[in-house]
Amino acid sequence: MADEEKFDAVVVGAGPAGTAAAITMAKAGLQVALLERGQKPGSKNVMGGILYNHYLEEIVGDAWKQAPLERPIIEERRWMMTRRWMMTPEAYIGLDYKNLRNREHPHSFSVLRAKFDAWFAEQAEKAGAMVVPETVVERLIVKNNRVVGVATGRGDDLYSEVVVVCEGIGLGAGLLEKTVIDGRPLRRKLRANEVAMAAKEIMQLEPGLIEERFNCEPGEGCTIECFGDSTMGMSGFMFIYTNKDTLSVGGGALLSEFNATLRSPNDLLEHFKNHPSVKPLLRGAETVEYLGHLIPEGGYRGIPKVYGPGYLVCGDAAMLSNPVHREGSNLAMESGRLAGETVIHAKEAEDFSERRLAEYRGKLDHSWIMADMRKYDKAVPLLEHNPQLLTKYPQVGDRALDEFFRVDGASKWDKQAKIFKMLRKEGLFRMGWDTFKALWAMK
Ligand SMILES: Cc1cc2nc3c(=O)[nH]c(=O)nc-3n(C[C@H](O)[C@H](O)[C@H](O)COP(=O)(O)OP(=O)(O)OC[C@H]3O[C@@H](n4cnc5c(N)ncnc54)[C@H](O)[C@@H]3O)c2cc1C
Repeated sequence: MADEEKFDAVVVGAGPAGTAAAITMAKAGLQVALLERGQKPGSKNVMGGILYNHYLEEIVGDAWKQAPLERPIIEERRWMMTRRWMMTPEAYIGLDYKNLRNREHPHSFSVLRAKFDAWFAEQAEKAGAMVVPETVVERLIVKNNRVVGVATGRGDDLYSEVVVVCEGIGLGAGLLEKTVIDGRPLRRKLRANEVAMAAKEIMQLEPGLIEERFNCEPGEGCTIECFGDSTMGMSGFMFIYTNKDTLSVGGGALLSEFNATLRSPNDLLEHFKNHPSVKPLLRGAETVEYLGHLIPEGGYRGIPKVYGPGYLVCGDAAMLSNPVHREGSNLAMESGRLAGETVIHAKEAEDFSERRLAEYRGKLDHSWIMADMRKYDKAVPLLEHNPQLLTKYPQVGDRALDEFFRVDGASKWDKQAKIFKMLRKEGLFRMGWDTFKALWAMK
C-alpha cells in the first residue's frame, strides 16, 4: 500500500457488517479498502451460528446460493432446563417446531464463520474492493476534529472521505473508545451488564450420526437453544447447531453475572455438555476448535452515535444485536448495506459532511433494525433483575407437568386440584404479574 493513498471509504473489519458495506460501495464504483486484522477474513470470528439468507441475497443477489453454508434449518427447538434445589438436573420443558416448508424455502442456515467470512470477502474483492488481511487498524486518524483515515499496524496511513467502523466488540478498548472528537470518545466504555461473554466449541461428528441423533434428513439441520438451568440460571442461553460434519456447541451470559458469580463461560459450557439431555447428543463428538467472544446486549439505549465527521459505525460496533432472537449477523449486514448506500449518496453529492452522513441514522431509524432494537430494549434488564423467570418458574412448571403426566392412581380432578394448590403456594399472583411484565417489556 502506498503512503497517503486516498479512498472514498476505508472499512475496518471484514465481518458481516464490513464486508456488506464494502460490497455495496464497490458495486457502485467507489474506491474501497476493506482492512481485516485476521490472517484471512473469518479466521478470528465467532458466531453460533445461524445466518439468514434474505439479507445475504440483498447484498450479493443469486450468488448467495454458492456461499459455503452448512445445513438449512428445518427444525427449531427451545428447551427450558430445570433443576430442583441442589439436585442434579432432571428435566427440560421443550417447544419443537419442525417446518418442512423450509426445505423448499429455507430462510436460515448454520454456518462456520471461518469459511463464510472468507467467501463473503471474496465477493467484495470481485465487486472491486481492495481486501487487505493481516492488517490491524491501530487508530483512526483525526484532523481538525474529523476522521480522515486510519493508521495500520503495517506502518501505513490510509486516507479516505469516510471510515466505516465495523470492528465488532471486544474486551479491550476498541477504536471507537480510543478516538476522541470534540473532547469526547466516539463510544463510551461498555458496562458489564451490556455485553454477554460467550464460548463455543466446534465438535466433529459423522454426518450420519448428526442426522440420526437430531432427527434430520440427510443435509438438513436443526437448532437447539436452552435456557434456565443450562446457564445455571444466568441471563443467557446455550445452543447446539448442526453443521455438515460438526456441531456448534456453546452459549453465554451477561458479563456482570459472570463477575458476580465468579463463573467462567467454560464452566457454563462444561455444565451444559454434561446435562443428561445433552450428553447423549454429543457422545463421541470430538472438540476440534474452542472459541470465545462478546455479544452486545445493551439494547436500544446502548447504541452509540453511529455517524459523525468522517465516520459511520455498523454491526456489533454499533451495539446492533437482538439476543432474544439470536440475531446479530443480519443486523450487521443490513446496517453495513445502509452505511454503504449513505456513502454512495455522499459521493454523488460530493458532500461528505456530518450532516450528509446523518442519512445513515435516518435509514436505520426507518428500518426493521431500530424497530426491533426498540421492541427488545427492556428484555435483557428484565431477565437480569428477575432471575426467578429462569430459575424458580421452570421448576414450578416441571413439578406441574410431572403431576399432570404421571399416571399413579389419582383422579384427574385430584391432580388438577393439586397443581392449582401448588401454583397458589408458589405465588400465583406474582407469577401472573411477572408474565405481564415480560410481555410488557417486549410489546
Ligand atoms: C457465540 C456467539 C454466537 C452467535 N450466534 C449468532 C447466530 O446464531 N446468528 C446471528 O445472526 N448472530 C449470532 N451472533 C452474533 C454475530 O456473530 C454478530 O452480531 C456479528 O458477527 C456482527 O458482525 P460484525 O461484522 O459487526 O462484527 P464481527 O463479526 O465481530 O467482525 C468484526 C471484524 O473486524 C475485525 N477487526 C476488529 N478490530 C479490527 C482492527 N482494529 N483492525 C482490523 N480489523 C479488525 C475482526 O477481526 C472481525 O473480522 C453470535 C455471536 C457469538 C459470540
